[in-house]
Amino acid sequence: MIRIEHLKKRFRKLQALDDINALFSSGQVVSLIGPNGSGKTTLIKSILGMVKPDSGCIYVDGKPINGDPAYRGNIGYMPQIGRYPDNMQIGQLFSMMKNIRKAPEASLDNDLLVKFNLVSIFDKPMRTLSGGTRQKVSAALAFLFNPDILILDEPTAGLDPLSSELLKEKIMQEKKKNKLILISSHVLSDLDELTSHVIYLQEGKMIFLKDIATLRQETGEDKLGKAIARVMRGGKKEALWIDEVLAVKESEKLP
Ligand code: ADP
Ligand code: MG
Repeated sequence: MIRIEHLKKRFRKLQALDDINALFSSGQVVSLIGPNGSGKTTLIKSILGMVKPDSGCIYVDGKPINGDPAYRGNIGYMPQIGRYPDNMQIGQLFSMMKNIRKAPEASLDNDLLVKFNLVSIFDKPMRTLSGGTRQKVSAALAFLFNPDILILDEPTAGLDPLSSELLKEKIMQEKKKNKLILISSHVLSDLDELTSHVIYLQEGKMIFLKDIATLRQETGEDKLGKAIARVMRGGKKEALWIDEVLAVKESEKLP
């Protein structure tokens, strides 16, 4: 569904994405993991056409995305920080989006709108909303048009525990419908039950892309957080070990 080839993006001196290659298919929940500033949002925005890569190519459903922007109609996007017109009421925002998309009422997915109880606060202006409520609006909008691909950037950040659970349930339901869901997060415990694949970024580089079964098997860890920590520590240990071997070799050369 999404293929990424040799993707590179630089912001002045900073290499935000450094030769990313990946393939994501329907029915997968891909967790995009990495420290702050590792390039998660830049990768997501590249897929959405909001960041223009320096080189490389992204294909969605087989077509390169730098042609027709129509592919975006099939992607639901929940931004890390949702920006909306300050004075617009929640209800007006939803009406506006429906008008723009011209989607038939029967095709809409109002599930989160109902579960998050947003209908009862339809008359609240966006500027008065707390961060968490804003996240709920963003989430409800991402799922509203029933897209085959969902891209959620730090979706649970700022959500209360109950809402976070509701969102996770929703993600599971959509996964069962064979959709592709890409989630970025640094709260790994949130992703444990959802994830089928993990892509780990660090300083713009893709350190690994693995399915969860392989990751668990290789590390002997069940929890995502621990498994990743083990891969990262394992990597370091190996490097240290090689350093030691080299040091010994160097010392052998000494008279
Ligand atoms: P993450 O989402 O993993 O926290 P980002 O993709 O937001 O990381 O950012 C990756 C790096 O690129 C960071 O160092 C960030 O400061 C930088 N960056 C992101 N967007 C821009 C931009 N528009 N201009 C300059 N630097 C940017
Ligand atoms: Mg980010």
